[in-house]
Amino acid sequence: MTITSEGTGTSGPQLKRLPDAYYDSFLSDLAKERRPSPIRSLMPLERTPGLISLLAGKPNASTFPFSSLSFNARSPTHPDEESTLTIDGAELEQGLQYGDTAGLKSLLDWIQGLQELNHGRKKDEGWRISIGSGSQDLIYKAVHAMVNPGEPVLVESPVYAGVIPMFHSLHCEQIEVETDAQGIRSSSLRIILEQWPAGKPKPKVLYTVPYGCNPTGMTATLQRRKEVLQLAREHNFIILEDDPYFYLYYGKAPRYPSYFALELEEPEVGHVLRFDSLSKVLSAGIRIGFASGPEALLKAIDQHTATSNLQTSSLTQAVVSKLLHSWGYDGFTAHIERISSFYAEKRDIFEHAMKKYLTGLAEWSTPEAGMFFWFKLLLTDDPEADGGDSQVVIRTKAFEKGVLALPGTVFLPNGRQTPYVRASFSLATEEEVDKAIQRLRDAILEARAE
Ligand code: PMP
Repeated sequence: MTITSEGTGTSGPQLKRLPDAYYDSFLSDLAKERRPSPIRSLMPLERTPGLISLLAGKPNASTFPFSSLSFNARSPTHPDEESTLTIDGAELEQGLQYGDTAGLKSLLDWIQGLQELNHGRKKDEGWRISIGSGSQDLIYKAVHAMVNPGEPVLVESPVYAGVIPMFHSLHCEQIEVETDAQGIRSSSLRIILEQWPAGKPKPKVLYTVPYGCNPTGMTATLQRRKEVLQLAREHNFIILEDDPYFYLYYGKAPRYPSYFALELEEPEVGHVLRFDSLSKVLSAGIRIGFASGPEALLKAIDQHTATSNLQTSSLTQAVVSKLLHSWGYDGFTAHIERISSFYAEKRDIFEHAMKKYLTGLAEWSTPEAGMFFWFKLLLTDDPEADGGDSQVVIRTKAFEKGVLALPGTVFLPNGRQTPYVRASFSLATEEEVDKAIQRLRDAILEARAE
């Protein structure tokens, strides 16, 4: 495929971006069939000054029983201090009303600034944002906007269990790309792509969780990121960068740039569709995530939203917008620093117990982001043995002893056996961790004795 590039007209080095037409071959048949909602596509025009809108069937907000909404928020710098934030007047009216499909303008603006701050992506440079009901909502819509039933997709392996059923229900061939403690093994990815059978449709997407991966805890290194990005350009696929643990990085080295940031160094931008989530940093129940990427893909996601749930809850967007505007970017950064230290401490407590009870019984790498340990159970002393299966140990023995974790098989698209286990260290107290790992040790010892 020939790619023509467009300049963006901004100052500084010309940023080349892929033209909208590039994405035609990336859209699924379903996405191409979808038509814009006749009402929702006109809704932004309602803001035209002087215009009287008789357009949408919006209920009259004066009939709603809410007159104001107040909540107490902790200070990001002094969490013992609280301030009361109130949503009323026009803000409340917006929060109670139908709104634009892509999201509430004040929240979109704030997030736009956040993406510029953290990823160097400036406004109007060929990308935009859509807000979803959590990132899961947007990932689901992106997958359906891009992948036709039966098409092959590239997934890092092990992979977030929440995407396996999406690809499975589309009858996709999930091509597993090996990972290690440094992220996706780009050399394996290169081999897959270079040995791709002639005549077989090539994968359009690669799904990856580059920071504190769920389930493996790994954080992809800069070198690996660069190599994967180069392959995306060479072999024409879009990186679905699912990064809900980006803000839970507690490694000692400076943070690696995201794929979304790194592509600014590429000859052209447009190979990354990024998903962020506020679930791990503000609240999981509030259900706010956002997708950032090329207009053509965001448009396809929005058209799905316009025909499914119309939009993400205006009220939760108004609450999040109020909080974030009151904090500002410095406040948000202070909050992030505080919570990432919180998880670093949890990680240390967990690892201390692992060293105490599981030395010689399990192997692991230390995560530098996120909330997961991924460890291999050593179920036999025989180095020649195939490693075995963690299922019985975890689902039966450990559970009977009073500890619940996930056997690694659930993170493998083909459900094969694996001696790996995923344990989340986000909630348990120091005491609980000590007990849980002791119980796990007893379960492993029991399995080894059989
Ligand atoms: N991706 C990954 C890798 C996750 O771990 C999760 C949450 N478990 C999600 C997406 C979904 O997050 P959200 O709450 O934003 O929908």
